[in-house]
Amino acid sequence: MKFWLFFIEGALLTIAVVAGVWAFQIWQEPEAIKPGGCQETISVGKSVNGVDIAACRLIGSVIDSNDALLVIGTVHGDEPDGKRVVDELMTQAVASDTEIWVLRDANPDGAELVTRRNANGVDLNRNFPVKWVASDPMARTYSGPSPASEPETQALMNAVEQIKPTRIVVFHQPYAQIDCPPERPATISDRLSQLTGYKSECIPGEKSGSPTNSYTGTFTIWVNSTFPETTAVTFELGLTTMQTKIQTIAKALKALAADPSY
Ligand SMILES: [Zn+2]
Repeated sequence: MKFWLFFIEGALLTIAVVAGVWAFQIWQEPEAIKPGGCQETISVGKSVNGVDIAACRLIGSVIDSNDALLVIGTVHGDEPDGKRVVDELMTQAVASDTEIWVLRDANPDGAELVTRRNANGVDLNRNFPVKWVASDPMARTYSGPSPASEPETQALMNAVEQIKPTRIVVFHQPYAQIDCPPERPATISDRLSQLTGYKSECIPGEKSGSPTNSYTGTFTIWVNSTFPETTAVTFELGLTTMQTKIQTIAKALKALAADPSY
């Protein structure tokens, strides 16, 4: 009888020791790097109302790859769906040897006010300092008092200058097509079209409502005219987008980032 008690006590003690060692090992283990989230965040400016505008290098991205992809979720405050693409991108690991940056929201005040323009009533995508044209302050596409007058425009310029991406995809709505990049062949647009099913086609300038009937002072005009090594493409989502399509687009962006030939 005594022997059995001794045996059970011994067994219980062994279990307690093993469990203790196991718990200690788990407690000691460094926090594993999970896919998604930011490995590095840089502040590139503030909105008119003082909201921080930040860019994030996705976890798993290499540093200074010379082929960074920058994805911009939103420039117009009433076009929120590009942020869903960014959020989707942030849930998954990036392919090895690739560098992906995201700038989720370049117009946080516009998003808050659910308006296209910023808190000064300026259309940021007409405020860039290449082919800038003065326009009616009451217009939906008011280009601002002077080129790059707006802090959000300057924040986007800072992001490009600091990150030095070779490819930039910027989301807008609602034309459901991938625009041809100004000053560049449509290679990236065509590739994204293959991967997502959205048509790759130039968006006619008369849609812009500008006095010249062509786009003026846009982000992509500024990037493609200023940085010979960088191509910026506008991806127009539709009015509404199913989540499965958002996932397809996020995957396509990862594939684009992983293939420097585009
Ligand atoms: Zn837009």
